[in-house]
Amino acid sequence: MNVTTMYCSGCDHEVAVVVTDGAATDAQANVTGEELACLEVGTSCTGTLCPIGAAEPSAMVHRLIRHGLPTDQLTRVRGYCDGCGLDTELALVGENRASCLVCGTTRPWAVLL
Ligand SMILES: [Zn+2]
Repeated sequence: MNVTTMYCSGCDHEVAVVVTDGAATDAQANVTGEELACLEVGTSCTGTLCPIGAAEPSAMVHRLIRHGLPTDQLTRVRGYCDGCGLDTELALVGENRASCLVCGTTRPWAVLL
């Protein structure tokens, strides 16, 4: 695992990214070889496409989970995931979306104030 920093044009600052070693354990990955996972994905990612990973912010969270990378830095909420059927922790990503930290399922999420 290789941590580096990279300028993100999506959130307009330098972010910590991890260069992972391939996706050999994920037969569904349509990317072979290494891929980038942003460690600072979260609520500041307002776009639908992360310029670093060429993927949706929610896909970035999925990569963090899949590669066993830390997710402590993400903004978390407790909620019900209909992907795995658990009351669990969800990470807020992008605008009004949250990704399950257990299975990576992303669903719409309204923050009610
Ligand atoms: Zn889940």
